[in-house]
Amino acid sequence: EYYSATFFAMDTEVTVRLARDKGETDVEGAPVYFDDAHLSEIVKACADIAEEKDALLSRTDENSALSMVNGEADCYLDINTELIDLINYSREISDKTDGAFDITVGTVTDLWNITGESPTVPADDAVAEALSHVGNDKLATNGANLTKTDRKTKLDLGAIGKGYTLGKIIEYLKTTDVVYGVVSFGGNVGVFGSKNDWYKVGITDALDKNKLCGYVYISTGYVSVSGDYERCFTADGKKYAHIFDPKTGRPAESDITSVSVLCSDPSLADALSTALYVKGSEASLEYYKSGVYMFEAVIQKKDGNVILTDGLKNGKFEKYVEPVTSTGE
Ligand code: AMP
Ligand code: MG
Repeated sequence: EYYSATFFAMDTEVTVRLARDKGETDVEGAPVYFDDAHLSEIVKACADIAEEKDALLSRTDENSALSMVNGEADCYLDINTELIDLINYSREISDKTDGAFDITVGTVTDLWNITGESPTVPADDAVAEALSHVGNDKLATNGANLTKTDRKTKLDLGAIGKGYTLGKIIEYLKTTDVVYGVVSFGGNVGVFGSKNDWYKVGITDALDKNKLCGYVYISTGYVSVSGDYERCFTADGKKYAHIFDPKTGRPAESDITSVSVLCSDPSLADALSTALYVKGSEASLEYYKSGVYMFEAVIQKKDGNVILTDGLKNGKFEKYVEPVTSTGE
């Protein structure tokens, strides 16, 4: 039995579910439960962590540490060490995904403004201009210093920040007396503690949001989902989603509609789901086999097919079966 609470952070809904059971028994052998006030305090602390990380990583809050980096005034910056660590980690992932994941896409995300009021397809020369500021070579870091070799380059941590923050929340929860629980942060899920059972995580069917594509079973770690079914717009019958190909400056032309990555590292799970979406299904499977990173994935293709990586083929994924509805007498 869980105590469940929801709050908003980083433009998304966060749900924290904490086991009520203290994992102890009273003199008569009955289980002992935490009171709600205690668990509510713990959820409050989780919300505080999300707020603190947002002040660091937000691209829209002009007072965030990231916004300082994104300003055009200075090319040589002395920045917060936590932020520089995440930037360095992101750059490493960018290298190891052949640039499919790239936090320097900021000018491209700004140009397309997919989540804005009335997004439109930008002109080719505007795309080319935005793209000219994208690339790992536009930055250099040294200790707490970050140098932008291109003043206009803008960083966007949208593909890693939620997973990173979720990881910090789970780290904190592990230090509390709660025995086990689950946190869902936008498209990222993390579990902690010792539950004597698997967690069954539902994956939305990206082709029909009212349904599920299936479930994955996890006992530990994280699941991150990237897809084209939430932040997108349609123009002239074509759908444009919020995940960009850093090589073209346009929404990735992928055969994937949604990809879920299972990984022990929350930031990596988040970054990889974005990278695999850009790569497409075939290149993603090759990437999995190359062993650059340890992860598993459920890939739902636009044609409806669902592909699993090898580690999920032994029953860790369960296909969703639609409930049979009675048609009456
Ligand atoms: P996610 O939902 O984790 O896949 O992250 C998508 C968000 O990350 C987008 O809304 C953009 O802000 C940003 N983004 C888009 N494309 C990329 C990319 N190829 N690499 C890194 N970040 C990206
Ligand atoms: Mg991501």
